[in-house]
Amino acid sequence: MSETLELTQALLKKVSLTPDDAGCMDLMADYLQQRGFVIEWMEFGDTKNMWARRGVTAPLFVFAGHTDVVPTGPLEQWDSPPFEPTIKDGHLYARGAADMKGSLAAMLTACDGFITKLNKEHKGDEANGSIGFLITSDEEGPATDGTVKVIEALDARGDKIDYCIVGEPTSHKTFGDMVRVGRRGSINGYLTLTGKQGHVAYPELVENPIHALAPILSNLTKETWDNGNEFFPPTSFQISNIKAGTGATNVVPGSLELIFNLRFSNELTPETIKSRITYIVDQQSDNYELTWNLSGLPFITEPGELTQAVEKAIMEVTGLQTELSTGGGTSDGRFIAPYGVQVIELGPINDTIHKINECVSIDDLDTLSLTYEKVLENILL
Ligand SMILES: [Zn+2]
Repeated sequence: MSETLELTQALLKKVSLTPDDAGCMDLMADYLQQRGFVIEWMEFGDTKNMWARRGVTAPLFVFAGHTDVVPTGPLEQWDSPPFEPTIKDGHLYARGAADMKGSLAAMLTACDGFITKLNKEHKGDEANGSIGFLITSDEEGPATDGTVKVIEALDARGDKIDYCIVGEPTSHKTFGDMVRVGRRGSINGYLTLTGKQGHVAYPELVENPIHALAPILSNLTKETWDNGNEFFPPTSFQISNIKAGTGATNVVPGSLELIFNLRFSNELTPETIKSRITYIVDQQSDNYELTWNLSGLPFITEPGELTQAVEKAIMEVTGLQTELSTGGGTSDGRFIAPYGVQVIELGPINDTIHKINECVSIDDLDTLSLTYEKVLENILL
């Protein structure tokens, strides 16, 4: 059995439901300490984060990831217990197998392989730079006391990260076919239209907020927000909920709530989005409330040292020309990139993440470890 598989299984046995780490980081810390890393615990709120570093010179290359997992869902629907890692048909089944304990194990063994090679070829010489680990257990939850706080603290004391690989599962059909070099921004809007409730038979006595919404909805859904650019697809607008009505067939409701989301490119700022939508609503209504929640700004790692190192590593290990993508949801990369760090997300196939019977290919675990190791070589040797 490969060491990466063994370590993955050990991590998967720990019930680290977000934001509980359940001892995963202790296991990682032990492993890293034995290989010359200095471990530092950073606690914010009730979240324990781990910062580990080997070496003091620049550039600083960091592996980032999370030990927490999402809830299992109905246990009876799992073919094997979600916290008892089970091997079947070349796959390892357990909650967190693909997102992202397999990646964490692969990062550890990649470092081991790299350090072994360093000792062999350079007779104990240090690498051309340092390796860090930024590990949190607050990624799948609110993500307020994890990566965002650690990166702030590191920046405040002058620890500058140059390159970062996040272990999120990014592969699509086969391992290595896709990595993320950026993510779109995400903003939620909450619109409440206020009218006047009354009997449907007395239109002169009511103001129907659903009718008021009709032209607003039409204009919002027709709008072209931008055309995207070479890195991002066009910004998309989606409504996730409309709520109104009292349940009675003869009552015009007094108010309506609309919830929507935009996944936006770096052609737009949250401010532009807010003012354009406010303008559209203003045209049709003067009795509304509009509030916002920004979940992440867009970021992009443009072609450079890290994209080259990753493309070369994937080509060497798998023979594939990987696709540099900006699709998908948000990740902790959004907290790291704004500090001028080149960030790429690279991990196993993501088709079972957050699902019943989450799994990862056993072969892919070793391939991932080897790919991470080659990235380290490409950057630090
Ligand atoms: Zn994840």
